[in-house]
Amino acid sequence: MNLFWGARLAQDLRDVQNQIEKDAQVARQQRMITTETNDLRNEVERLCLLNQAMWELICSKLGLTDADLEKKAQEVDLRDGKLDGKMTTHPVRCPQCGRVSNSRLKKCMYCNMEFEGSAFG
Ligand SMILES: [Zn+2]
Repeated sequence: MNLFWGARLAQDLRDVQNQIEKDAQVARQQRMITTETNDLRNEVERLCLLNQAMWELICSKLGLTDADLEKKAQEVDLRDGKLDGKMTTHPVRCPQCGRVSNSRLKKCMYCNMEFEGSAFG
């Protein structure tokens, strides 16, 4: 009886130690994810700042307006066929040369044919 309970207690102890190890591993992963998320947030904020600065420079040098930017953003957004505020990409076959380009591009990367709106894909 004592042997049985001793073995049982030893097994329970190993189970608890294993669980503590797993919890510690999860905690390490969470800290890593938090660090990466903060790094990404800082990078995005830096990119937003540079983007704003570039846009203000462009406006002052070239006389463009926010409406021009919005119009261009919609045109770029529609290149993947969806007006969703995102620039997803997919392969597109050029109607002129037949080779495959990327929907992110305005022109065929091989023959320079200009793609029109969202009509390709
Ligand atoms: Zn082409």
